[in-house]
Amino acid sequence: MAGSDPVVATRALVKHFGPVKAVDGIDLTVDVGEIYGFLGANGSGKTTTVRLLLGLVLATSGEIELFGRPMPRSGGEVLHRVGSLVEGPAAYGHLSGATNLALLDASARMPAGPVGSSRSGRAARRARVRDAMDLVGLGAVGRRKVSAYSLGMRQRLGIAAALLRQPELLVLDEPTNGLDPQGIREVRQLLVELNHGGTTILLSSHLLAEVEQLCTRIGLLDRGRLVLQESVDTLRAPTGRTLVVTPDADAAHALLDGRVATRDGDRLLVETTDAAALNARLVAAGIRVVELGPERRTLEEVVAERTSERQAGEVAR
Ligand code: ATP
Repeated sequence: MAGSDPVVATRALVKHFGPVKAVDGIDLTVDVGEIYGFLGANGSGKTTTVRLLLGLVLATSGEIELFGRPMPRSGGEVLHRVGSLVEGPAAYGHLSGATNLALLDASARMPAGPVGSSRSGRAARRARVRDAMDLVGLGAVGRRKVSAYSLGMRQRLGIAAALLRQPELLVLDEPTNGLDPQGIREVRQLLVELNHGGTTILLSSHLLAEVEQLCTRIGLLDRGRLVLQESVDTLRAPTGRTLVVTPDADAAHALLDGRVATRDGDRLLVETTDAAALNARLVAAGIRVVELGPERRTLEEVVAERTSERQAGEVAR
């Protein structure tokens, strides 16, 4: 396998549920080290795509590769390199978080490895569980039963379960769903730290702000189709125009005659990339400048441009 293989690649991936085209010809790639944000309104096909990638549902047609190996055929070889949290964490409420993780760890299918004594196996398991609990900030909750966990703690326990095997790829479906602002911040912080530690992350979300803050690349789904796949840096690159906000908009408009692309009240968009020269010219003419800088499109604008009206309204800030 070449070192440059994408972590995830799909080609013309299709999934029908009866007459419903949940996934409609998706070519998706996630490269090593990315935080890839899979963005789309409810029902756009995010969960189905994630389930397809993990071999939890079978594709109607098309191809899927994880770490360069075909799925679901090679699931046994590659899925141990993947941690996932899809459609909410499940745990036994009457047991502690650590016991839940130990049970999961015991039941997980391991790739062939060096044979150790059962004693060292148990010690290694305890260490894995402790590390995963520490990593998600649940190291100090002791023997508290999961039934007494907050929603945020449960979500973090779900992520801990996904992290047990120190996966190279973490796949998370709406990881901050149902969390309060503090819980959301904690999960985001955790994901950034994991990514800095080398974990590639694919997360689905219907929240623009979440994806914009967290992700390095975005795939935008609209009714089962991938209508955009681009790095956030490229999407947010300057447009080549300069935004000027001034209470003297009439005077500025007259001065810059022909170079003003649009005007909206006290906001002018000027056809230039030389913001400094523009500023100097305005100030020299006695025009008061409140704000001036390169225009960048927001992710919200890009989404509105690329998706159908209904969908754009449902992708929330
Ligand atoms: P949400 O965030 O609401 O889960 P989503 O973007 O994850 O939305 P999916 O859950 O993948 O979207 O659903 C895509 C479409 O496929 C929807 O129309 C949904 O009703 C349909 N669908 C998903 N799973 C099934 C299923 N098992 N049987 C029938 N239809 C399904």
